[in-house]
Parts: sequence; structure tokens; C-alpha cells
Amino acid sequence: MALLNEILDHNKKFIENKEYEKYTTDKFPNKRLVILSCMDTRLVELLPKAMDVGNGDVKIIKTAGAIVSHPFGSIMRSILVAVYELGADEVCIVGHYDCGMASLKAENTIQKMKERGVSEEKLDLLHYSGVDLEKFLHGFDCVEDSVKHSVAMVQNHPLMPKDVQVHGLVIDPKSGRLDVIVNGYELVKSDS
Ligand SMILES: [Zn+2]
Repeated sequence: MALLNEILDHNKKFIENKEYEKYTTDKFPNKRLVILSCMDTRLVELLPKAMDVGNGDVKIIKTAGAIVSHPFGSIMRSILVAVYELGADEVCIVGHYDCGMASLKAENTIQKMKERGVSEEKLDLLHYSGVDLEKFLHGFDCVEDSVKHSVAMVQNHPLMPKDVQVHGLVIDPKSGRLDVIVNGYELVKSDS
């Protein structure tokens, strides 16, 4: 059966059996926390269990590599909305070991695009329009450095209130162990 049909069949039963009832909550995070993490499949259930967060506890933003790559992109906007509109007062950036974005080679991805039918003409057009695909597709070399960079970008963002604590963590996608790269409480202390 096609995947979408499987999903819709399941969904019908889910609704009929009122399985949603145990997830009932509101949009405000009980733990007043925003988590930015990677879209990695190993973290779908592992990360919330390893961090002890359930439905209603946190806002979770997911992106490839848990990278805040632009100060005025949609990730940063989501974090600001969570802080100003939804009552979050702490942010956790959670990268992970063995992340696909650490080994991503832009030239390989571009090669795959060509094989899937993206023409040289289109790539040239993008190039001459000022789009730097190498940069656009770049991940990171070191997850700890990437997390530190994202923490600094959020922490120092001109629209971020100074009392919001920003932490940087790296999770092991096998065991769920969290390593602290930046402890936001210490950052706040050292500033004062
Ligand atoms: Zn990843």
C-alpha cells in the first residue's frame, strides 16, 4: 500500500479510538524551553525520552544539523516567536554525533542533483544570479564548533532578550547521552 494511504488508514483508527486524548495539552511549553535539534531519524523518539520531555513540555524545532545558519532565517524566527509569544525562557541547541551534515560534501550533492535531472544551464543560472550552492549546502566539520556557533548566534541576536539562557548540547544518537558544550547559566553569570 502507498505510504500516504497507510498513514490515512492509521489516522482514521487513531481518531475513532480517541487515541489523541492522552496527548491533550496547549501551545505553551510547560518547561518554558525551546529545543533546536537535527532531523536525524535516530532522534525522533530517543531525544525526547533522553531529555525527559513529552507532549506539551517544549517547543521542538528541527532542521538538518541543528544549525542556525542565518540570523534572520526561519529557525531564528521560530526561536524568537517561542520566546516572545509562547513563554519560552531557555533554549537548548542539541547537535549530535555522527550527523549527516558533518560529512555532507556540496559537490556530491550537486552531482546527485545533475543525475536527477537538474541541468547545467540551471546551475549556471543560479551561479550567475549570485547563489553560492557550495555555501548553501555546506554543513559543518565539527559538531561541537557548530553548536557553539549556533549558541553564539542565538545568544547575541539583537532581538533576543538578555535573560534568555541558551545552552549547547551534543547527543549520542545510540545511547542518548548528552554532553554539555555550552552551559547557558554560566554564560549569564560570567556576563554579570
Ligand atoms: Zn544530524
